[in-house]
Amino acid sequence: ALLHPPEPGLVLSRFGQHADVEDTSGAVVRCNMRRTISSVVTGDQVSWRRSKQPTGSIDGVIEAVAERHSVLLRPDFYDGLKPVAANIDLMIIVSAILPALSLNIIDRYLVASEITGIKPLLVINKIDLLPETEQQALDQQLQLYRQMGYACLLVSAKTGQGMAELLQYLHSGTSIFVGQSGVGKSSLMNTLMPGLAAATQEVSEVSGLGQHTTTVSRLYHLPEGGKLIDSPGIREFALWHLSPEEVTNGFIEFRPWLGRCKFRDCKHLTDPGCAIQHAVAEGEISPLRYESYQKILHSMAQDKPHYF
Ligand code: GDP
Ligand code: ZN
Repeated sequence: ALLHPPEPGLVLSRFGQHADVEDTSGAVVRCNMRRTISSVVTGDQVSWRRSKQPTGSIDGVIEAVAERHSVLLRPDFYDGLKPVAANIDLMIIVSAILPALSLNIIDRYLVASEITGIKPLLVINKIDLLPETEQQALDQQLQLYRQMGYACLLVSAKTGQGMAELLQYLHSGTSIFVGQSGVGKSSLMNTLMPGLAAATQEVSEVSGLGQHTTTVSRLYHLPEGGKLIDSPGIREFALWHLSPEEVTNGFIEFRPWLGRCKFRDCKHLTDPGCAIQHAVAEGEISPLRYESYQKILHSMAQDKPHYF
């Protein structure tokens, strides 16, 4: 096929053998991919070429993918770990006070943030459901995270409380909302970007597991600047594919103590001469965080890998 010279582009979404690429003018071009390219995902910076004679709905071809500064992976039955979104700068970890706030789940996402190198922001939603007096107690609880350098916001998608502050974090770079089902991720995203719900499409995909319906990852430009990746498949990603060492490293306040344990292969659970356990006993490490660590390691030992 006859092609124009290569130009840079941004992948908005990928489905099957095609991808929607945004060119430098902001126009969207549907592209095929060169067979030599191993993977193309939402958020990828690519080099692509426009066809001189477009065929069907395909107007170009992606020839190369730039190196990614971050990537979110998802376990896949046949492919092992499969990238689903790239070049994300901010992981917005959404929790809510209803269902009850789980520090353990927050800690799991923080580990994922540390391991992927994507900066986290803790957002506690549905604050409208909490009386003012209890809001102070919650804020106190979050001091633990703030002291470790993790920013925390109390927000309400319903009343708009805290939404202006949240917007400040979204203005630059590419963000993604993660968190358990029901915490209000869709509500928050719709508040920030009216019309997002209508834009979310169900796409039928044929994979090795047969025909099944999935919702593709998609990149959106926010009206007030910044990019948002909506990736339903990764919102509740699990940690089972991480090694115990990666989980240990994901607890940033453990780091100064690592290497001081009596045994080199210390798991920091019941091992004798453990510097982490010592630091907990001395009040240097929060017992809540250590409890989370224990829970995560135990669940990793028991969980069968589950495939999406
Ligand atoms: P998602 O599964 O994380 O995308 O959560 P949804 O956005 O679908 O919200 C789950 C439920 O929580 C819905 O019934 C929402 O109306 C409700 N919800 C979301 N945000 C708030 C909030 O700030 N306050 C209250 N009271 N309810 C909310
Ligand atoms: Zn140890």
